[in-house]
Amino acid sequence: MADKIYVLLDHGQGQIRNASWETLALGQKIAQETGQSLHAVVLGQEVESLAQEAAGKRVDSVIAAQDPKLADYDPDVSKAALSAILKADEPQLLLMAHSYQNIDFAPKLAAGLGKGLVTDCIGYRIDDSGELIFTRQMFRNKLNADVRVRSTPPWIVTVQAGACSLDDLQQGSAEVRMRQVDLAEIQARRVQLEAIEANKGQVDLNKAEVIVGVGRGIKKAENLSIIEELAQALGAEIGASRPVVDSEWMERERQIGSSGQNVAPKLYIGCGISGAIQHVVGMKSSNCIVAINSDPNAPIFNIANYGIVGDLFEVVPALTKRLREESS
Ligand code: FAD
Repeated sequence: MADKIYVLLDHGQGQIRNASWETLALGQKIAQETGQSLHAVVLGQEVESLAQEAAGKRVDSVIAAQDPKLADYDPDVSKAALSAILKADEPQLLLMAHSYQNIDFAPKLAAGLGKGLVTDCIGYRIDDSGELIFTRQMFRNKLNADVRVRSTPPWIVTVQAGACSLDDLQQGSAEVRMRQVDLAEIQARRVQLEAIEANKGQVDLNKAEVIVGVGRGIKKAENLSIIEELAQALGAEIGASRPVVDSEWMERERQIGSSGQNVAPKLYIGCGISGAIQHVVGMKSSNCIVAINSDPNAPIFNIANYGIVGDLFEVVPALTKRLREESS
């Protein structure tokens, strides 16, 4: 019966990943709105404590599948374990975070079951007929597409980091159900040699009380001097949106957002940043957000406490000048 929603909680280094908790929060919302039950799924070896942690959230149950073959991630093994669970239980939905690991095996899982897969969703809505519709971005996020799944359930949906806030995750109390999955026939084709932590670099934006964020609106690396001068006048660190980092105008460790750092300074000044969800997720917890953007419709103004509609090449030097005058 398709009257339940499953959420896969993926984990690493003994912790459930934040993106999975966010996905669970989204699952809670959908379950509440559709009247379906909600179940968390934890795969791995010795995952009792993670399952217990999940049982402290508002879910109807936690399904924990343990097997030595699930100790290190392998796409064939993850696919086999989840296929078995989905085939037996027939939920309407399996939600999972759009993480590198999940998206590695989600297409294989969906294709193996012959079910629909919607990736990198930023939201959902329920239409007049009660059907679930998912929203995903297209054309470099210029367009939001509504996606309806044609196949019969279960549908597999991956959820972008930041699509739901961790603050929305509701607590509760549920039972953990240990689940046997038969993986005897499954042969992992990968061997994990070593887990190497990504280099965190020299810049720790988390310690900064003030951050000046710079986006593609700065146009070229040579123009960054005006941002550096403003940061200096404020005693601030500089953060950047992804295009600035991808263009190699700034070091990767300064990137703020879903694939960069999460920051929560007292003051964040975004200069020439549009406010894409992947950036906003990394800085929306700032105490005070000031946005400088020439486009009055830029989405960053939706979350800004103060907005300056104007050319950053005029506004930023004027701000710096004023700050210098104030401090002299
Ligand atoms: P744009 O969206 O191009 O915006 C530039 C802005 O500058 C515009 O709003 C424009 O009006 C304004 N502007 C132009 N000229 C001026 C001027 N003279 N004065 C004032 N304003 C001006 N992005 C991140 O930032 N961090 C991430 O971690 C991240 N992770 C991602 C992960 C994935 C899987 C994907 C798909 C995308 C990710 N992105 C990330 C990219 C994200 O979707 C956006 O493309 C990006 O945030 C846009 O950066 P931007 O605002 O600098 O550029």
